[in-house]
Amino acid sequence: IEPKLSGDFATLMEWADGVRKLKVRTNAETPLDAETARKFGAEGIGLCRTEHMFFDPARIGAVRQMIMAETETGRRAALSRLLPFQRQDFVDLFRIMAGLPVTIRLLDPPLHEFLPHSAEEIEEVAADLGADVAAMQRRVTELSEANPMLGHRGCRLGITFPEIYEMQARAIFEAAVAIGKETHKAPVPEIMIPLVMTKRELEILRALVDKVAQEVFAETGYHIEYLVGTMIELPRAALTADAIAESADFFSFGTNDLTQTVFGLSRDDAGKFLPYYTEKGILPKDPFVSIDVDGVGALVEIAAEKGRKVKADLKLGICGEHGGDPASIHFCGKAGLDYVSCSPYRVPIARLAAAQAALAGGGDRTA
Ligand code: PEP
Ligand code: MG
Repeated sequence: IEPKLSGDFATLMEWADGVRKLKVRTNAETPLDAETARKFGAEGIGLCRTEHMFFDPARIGAVRQMIMAETETGRRAALSRLLPFQRQDFVDLFRIMAGLPVTIRLLDPPLHEFLPHSAEEIEEVAADLGADVAAMQRRVTELSEANPMLGHRGCRLGITFPEIYEMQARAIFEAAVAIGKETHKAPVPEIMIPLVMTKRELEILRALVDKVAQEVFAETGYHIEYLVGTMIELPRAALTADAIAESADFFSFGTNDLTQTVFGLSRDDAGKFLPYYTEKGILPKDPFVSIDVDGVGALVEIAAEKGRKVKADLKLGICGEHGGDPASIHFCGKAGLDYVSCSPYRVPIARLAAAQAALAGGGDRTA
């Protein structure tokens, strides 16, 4: 479908924009998605999943080396190969978004997706790292997990391998400085830390991002503004949101993982039996589609309230799939969120739903 709004539809969208209070951003990491979303009226990127950028065939070799290297030196060598790619990724996104907010989430992979699988891939990474094949097979076993979605992912990876987040932060700052020098209007990147469960994780990673920022500013002689925030996607993070808010400029609710962890339902497997639950009325609706107000929603409200008690101007958004679901958007308006973020083709629906939420009395804040 050509991403173009015209005629009566465009007029309807303008009316909706005149009413709504919630901003509408998009989840995008490719230039095509970012451009499409802008044509649909997205007012920023609310979630750039950087792990998706790592699957590019031109870089997967370096990504595997980064994960498989047994030393920091080995990881840093692979990361220095990835840095130019990442810098260009962000230059492209900043250019397309032309000053609109861009939230970049640091790496959050289920680790198994980056591990070499076939014998051929293991041999390849062994050759690249100058390691022997048996050592690489041991490394795969060491890094393999029984339940990767609850394992070594999100900021846990940034804590254990800080050089990965360091490279990404450097790529973001170097890209923002380059755009600033070129256009005299530097973007204000919003750097987002995923899967935070304790305030200490955020303190450590914020300090790391700040350190890299200072290095890049000193090297380039150019200074930019930036924000550092966190995803709230674990019940513990929601319940301790006041402590976490001390180190955060914004929260973005990751309601996909929050639903998974609140219900104890696997995101990847629930579809196998969940339709039976909804058919029989055991659950009113699929909680991965529409926010479960009593559980997940209650945690969103608790976190919003606790966070804003510490920082009245804490920016709040949602970037789980629910950000494009009209019923959930109504909930977000009532909960006082500033914006929703959804996939590009859902942006028009989100604009409409946000207007309906405002007319119904929800969403009385501005971002
Ligand atoms: C989420 O968990 O809601 C989220 C947006 O992150 P992801 O879907 O990438 O885990
Ligand atoms: Mg998540």
